[in-house]
Amino acid sequence: MSEQYVAAIDQGTTSTRCMIFNRDGRVVNVDQKEHEQIFPRAGWVEHNATEIWDNTREVVAGALAKADLNSSDIAAVGITNQRETALVWDRTTGEPVYNAIVWQDTRTDAICKQLGDLGGGAERYKDKVGLPLATYFSGPKVRWILDNVDGAKERAQAGNLAFGNMDTWVIWNATGGTDGGLHITDPTNASRTMLMDLDSLSWDEGIADEMGIPMSMLPEIRSSSEVYGQAHEHGPLRGVPVAGILGDQQAATFGQACLSVGEAKNTYGTGNFMLINTGTQKVPSKHGLLTTVCYKIGDQATVYALEGAVAVTGSLVQWIRDNLGLIGSAPEIETLAKTVEDSGGSYFVPAFSGLFAPYWRGDARGAIVGLTRFVNKGHLARAVLEATAFQSRELLDAMNADSGVDLTSLKVDGGMVANETLMQFQADILGVPVIRPVVAETTALGAAYAAGLAVGFWEGEDDIRANWAEDKRWEPHMDEAHREKRYRKWKKAVTKTFDWVDEDD
Ligand code: ADP
Repeated sequence: MSEQYVAAIDQGTTSTRCMIFNRDGRVVNVDQKEHEQIFPRAGWVEHNATEIWDNTREVVAGALAKADLNSSDIAAVGITNQRETALVWDRTTGEPVYNAIVWQDTRTDAICKQLGDLGGGAERYKDKVGLPLATYFSGPKVRWILDNVDGAKERAQAGNLAFGNMDTWVIWNATGGTDGGLHITDPTNASRTMLMDLDSLSWDEGIADEMGIPMSMLPEIRSSSEVYGQAHEHGPLRGVPVAGILGDQQAATFGQACLSVGEAKNTYGTGNFMLINTGTQKVPSKHGLLTTVCYKIGDQATVYALEGAVAVTGSLVQWIRDNLGLIGSAPEIETLAKTVEDSGGSYFVPAFSGLFAPYWRGDARGAIVGLTRFVNKGHLARAVLEATAFQSRELLDAMNADSGVDLTSLKVDGGMVANETLMQFQADILGVPVIRPVVAETTALGAAYAAGLAVGFWEGEDDIRANWAEDKRWEPHMDEAHREKRYRKWKKAVTKTFDWVDEDD
């Protein structure tokens, strides 16, 4: 094969990236562009999908140009994306009927309660879809758009509207849009809508019907790794096989080579997401985790995962920077934290979108507790970093309890793992080593692997394992009594955020 590279498009929460990888799984080039975060009201978060598609085209062209490559150098392109974020658009015009409603958005709280009241509460669909009813997932967001955008319900019933997560939107546009664009998704994305049966990997008509979502809106579910079609002739990737789709967290799991049962990774980005590969076994959670599809390579058996999702980790650092102005850039949180020894007894519980795993409390809101006159901004910076580590410990505990096996180390990635103070505290609070790989861009890498496997650029999982290499590891140093005391205090702090939202809020 003459092509030397695989491209990955990573349509994330804060930005869109295009990365070009070589056969060793190393980044050859990258281009990236942030998009606007739209906050129309407290608890609402939206993205302009047209801006996102424009950025996608720009970064693809940018990444190719920087490396002096063109489409004939690229063997395949894979897509990874912010999951759950929901978009509805008109098939004939290509126009979104409303902004994309982002995964962090809490506006569907009432819809989720109403659905739960039909019987079963938050667990109503859990056996089939692996998820509790929560504002996080796509289905209720689509329902909100159909209920609230003038004429949307009628247009949907007439078959004119399409739903997709951002993978679907990017691929529909990249393969031609109104000119024959593919309306497809993969099981990892579909498993976050609350509409897909985890066993059959098909849409569940009964659930779609209860949510008032016409089946005609839903994309076709294909595997995570196969040639779906070619990029449209008018784009920078003209003719390149579009051959991989993985939701961002599943992509990171794949890129971290967590390909065997019991292997786990934790990604530290806007939020934190810990996934453990459970193999072809679909493991139901008793401890607040999600059962989800990990990947499905071509016609091979479906691989499942248990996932712990935390809504606010890196975005708390952004909040300290943008809303309080305590720091000028995200890395400065570490400089500020290092001015003190510890958090001075303070705990920051960032329940800005309620609490996700393992609590699933939509009624919680953020709190800083344990304040005294002793506490200064250095202590608060520490409390901010520690919040990420404590929330990750809660996920690890839940995973150990659900799987019955204790994890002995944890692979990590994402923007926050550059923070060494956080990584050391993380190892201390988990009591197991924390390991960072050489290629920290595991999300884009995972999508590249999915696409590259489909076209034979990589032969199989052995190539992926062989490409994985350790960069650094942090060993736990904190003594156990101190660790458990700090964790106990954290859990107490969490309880102070419960029951904050009232019916009339
Ligand atoms: P995403 O893919 O979710 O957009 P990234 O993996 O790019 O996120 O990580 C970005 C997040 O990491 C931001 O929320 C930012 O605040 C945080 N971050 C980046 N660098 C640091 C740092 N040195 N210390 C702490 N947080 C950081």
